[in-house]
Amino acid sequence: MDLTQTAEVAAFRAEARAWLAEHVPDSPLPSLETAEGFTAHRAWEARLQTGGWSAVSWPEEYGGRGVDIERWLVFEEEYWAAGAPGRVSQNGISLLAPTLFDHGTPEQRARVLPPMASGEVIWAQAWSEPEAGSDLASLTSRARRTGGGWLLSGQKTWSSRAAFADRAFGIFRTDPEAAKPHQGLTYLMFDLRAPGVTVRPIGRLDGKPAFAELFLDEVFVPDEDVIGEPGQGWRIAMSTTGNERGLTLRSPGRFLAAADRLVALWRAAGDPGDTALRDRVADAVVGARAYELFTWAGATRFAAGERIGAESSLNKVFWSQYDIALHETALDLLGADAELAEGAWAEPWVFSLAGPIYAGTNEIQRDIIAERLLGLPKGRR
Ligand SMILES: Cc1cc2nc3c(=O)[nH]c(=O)nc-3n(C[C@H](O)[C@H](O)[C@H](O)COP(=O)(O)OP(=O)(O)OC[C@H]3O[C@@H](n4cnc5c(N)ncnc54)[C@H](O)[C@@H]3O)c2cc1C
Repeated sequence: MDLTQTAEVAAFRAEARAWLAEHVPDSPLPSLETAEGFTAHRAWEARLQTGGWSAVSWPEEYGGRGVDIERWLVFEEEYWAAGAPGRVSQNGISLLAPTLFDHGTPEQRARVLPPMASGEVIWAQAWSEPEAGSDLASLTSRARRTGGGWLLSGQKTWSSRAAFADRAFGIFRTDPEAAKPHQGLTYLMFDLRAPGVTVRPIGRLDGKPAFAELFLDEVFVPDEDVIGEPGQGWRIAMSTTGNERGLTLRSPGRFLAAADRLVALWRAAGDPGDTALRDRVADAVVGARAYELFTWAGATRFAAGERIGAESSLNKVFWSQYDIALHETALDLLGADAELAEGAWAEPWVFSLAGPIYAGTNEIQRDIIAERLLGLPKGRR
């Protein structure tokens, strides 16, 4: 891994930094998990895209800058260091877009990607069901053939931001007679405002209303919104999970920026005599740097043509635990009352607690690490 920065990469970094310095809102936007915040974040996505910074790694024809993974990581570092808003388009940009690049048609990419980059269409992920979370292949929502398309019925749950999003992507059972649970599934995109869709918010620990469950009653989806071949949904979905757990959901830039903020907090509020807490601040900085190096090593291999497969489970377990430790350190620094307040540390702390659950629970990731990376025997299931 060569971390020497070329003149071209330095110029790219400087361009991103200058644009962000000029455009990032002076004060934080309201939470994107609220109606007001969702609207404000949508407007931010549009603004970001006027500078061409929404999806820098996409080809230019879809509104990206066609940059390589190294520049994408550099952009992410600059983005979070500038204190820029959380990305309300993340489900689309990190999960659906890579799926369309691998399995979609040129027509789907041309139709779906530009409005995704500008925040005009915001996507929700509709995978989980009440009885199909970790064991996703046991999902029962179905898609039935009809003239020119499919009719979706069933229930999806735990859908992030679905209360305010425009469209969703998910997998549906199209062949109930298939020999195995992961066969006979189809990957589809659908409109959250189509007739037959009911979106019901689910209460979250932080009280924000964007998280939702979806009830689908004969929802029509045209053939053009099937991704890949009908029946191949599982294979396609598995290429999405590598993205979700690996690089795209949590790039190191976010943690490097948070660790810097934690150091600033320690300098402002820390008790020099509390060496135990001081060591936890230092651990947070070391952890962010370690994650950065691990990510760059993975990115180097990716750029050389290697696929990131089970290795992405290592990222997932690491960042989700790191995120909790970092925020708990900040709260301990601020004192117990900080847990009760909304604010720069309390709100992201509450969300960090969900990290070991979403994007595949850490128990499942550890099974993958044990079996596929370490070659240990399969556990009893
Ligand atoms: C904040 C948040 C956002 C989310 N966003 C989305 C979203 O946008 N779209 C979406 O589709 N889903 C989303 N999810 C759902 C998430 O992916 C699921 O919660 C997760 O996959 C776990 O599924 P489950 O909740 O059904 O738990 P279960 O699968 O029932 O698991 C319960 C417990 O049993 C353990 N367990 C289960 N099976 C095994 C096994 N074989 N070996 C060892 N342990 C096991 C699990 O690790 C867990 O601890 C979100 C969840 C959260 C918390």
